[in-house]
Amino acid sequence: MHDGDTLRRFLFERFPVRGYVVHLDSAWRALVEHHDYPPAVRDALGEAVAATMLLAATLKFEGLLTLQLQGPGPMHLLVVQATHRMAVRGVARWRGTLPEAGASLAALSGGGQLTVTVENADRSNRYQGIVPLAGERLADCFEAYFARSEQLPTRLWLAATPERAAGLLLQRLPSGASASAEEVEHSAAAGDEDWNRVLTLAATLTGAELAGLAGTDLLHRLFHEEDLRLFEPGPVYFQCTCSRERVSGILRSLGAAEVHDILAERGSVEVRCEFCNRAWQYDAVDVAGLFADGGAVRGPRALQ
Ligand SMILES: [Zn+2]
Repeated sequence: MHDGDTLRRFLFERFPVRGYVVHLDSAWRALVEHHDYPPAVRDALGEAVAATMLLAATLKFEGLLTLQLQGPGPMHLLVVQATHRMAVRGVARWRGTLPEAGASLAALSGGGQLTVTVENADRSNRYQGIVPLAGERLADCFEAYFARSEQLPTRLWLAATPERAAGLLLQRLPSGASASAEEVEHSAAAGDEDWNRVLTLAATLTGAELAGLAGTDLLHRLFHEEDLRLFEPGPVYFQCTCSRERVSGILRSLGAAEVHDILAERGSVEVRCEFCNRAWQYDAVDVAGLFADGGAVRGPRALQ
């Protein structure tokens, strides 16, 4: 069964552990299509995309989840955004000499921090969590994030190839969180034992298997002796949220003088979206329209 570009939830029937497995195929290729990423940066971005989808799946929100990695190293900025509908976009910036593919996150980012921001569409709620980029792997940083923000033991496995970005998340839920009486009665000690067994099984997963196997095959390979409930997979896809309105806001925030300078120099103004590479064009009439109302200044944004 083909299960590319999907995210699937699963539950262990006999103890309170849940999981998600995500595979991005065409969505991943579309996300990197217009970028010439060096392998180390591409792989880090792929892992970040998979991790963002897994994080989005575990959270209750209706809006936008933004993951941002910033550090002093060669890969100094990485941004991934996902909606609650599982649309994703992302971009990474790098400079100087990069380490080989497979290098540690620390070598790529040079430390720094991981910021997770959740914004509900109605702006009713905004949440931000920050953890240091201290671990060897991006998954380590996410585990630190979950430990801090959700206080639920969570483990992640991430993998990326030029063709695919993939991730597996396991999360131990509080005992009694599920409706099953069997689970409620489960003792803490037995809960520890179950959680550790699940982690031991999952630890045998290789990056090649994670990126290469279909979700169901992967879960069967790891947990075929466990009683697992699989839910129907849902789609994940690439979609950019750039719009003329947003680009116009960025140009207004630059100010009339600067935009008119660009217009005078080049004959038109072009703003290219970093995420999807779409070019937004403004001719002299468009520019005049931008500032016709006195050029109400909106907040500048580093990335549209
Ligand atoms: Zn775009």
